[in-house]
Amino acid sequence: MAAETIFSKIIRREAPADIVYQDDLVTAFRDIHPQAPVHILIVPNKAIPTVNDVQPADEAALGRLFSVAGKLAHEMGIAEDGYRLLVNCNRHGGQVVYHLHMHLLGGRPLGPMLLRP
Ligand code: 5GP
Repeated sequence: MAAETIFSKIIRREAPADIVYQDDLVTAFRDIHPQAPVHILIVPNKAIPTVNDVQPADEAALGRLFSVAGKLAHEMGIAEDGYRLLVNCNRHGGQVVYHLHMHLLGGRPLGPMLLRP
């Protein structure tokens, strides 16, 4: 079984977070250090550490990340202007919390996709 992170505690509501959506497969909550006016983390309720650990059985939950991202983007008023969905994996990807999650970022122009070296 995957080692637990703070995200599992947030999903079980044992740790504080501003949860904006939750269902049987995913939970969405505001990032504690927002990088944009809208910065929400959408996470599978199951603790999958990284994209490298995804199994076919996880496809329903991972598909739900996208449908919830679109729904929240509409609710937050950023759908028309646009936004960015981001999933980091391991060290080179800049992953810090080892519970797979999608960042929903928007509310301002986000600039180029990657920092120039
Ligand atoms: P990563 O770099 O792993 O893709 O992103 C992890 C994100 O989780 C970061 O943007 C960080 O600010 C956020 N984060 C880390 N710990 C917490 C927490 O306890 N609560 C919330 N709401 N966000 C967190």
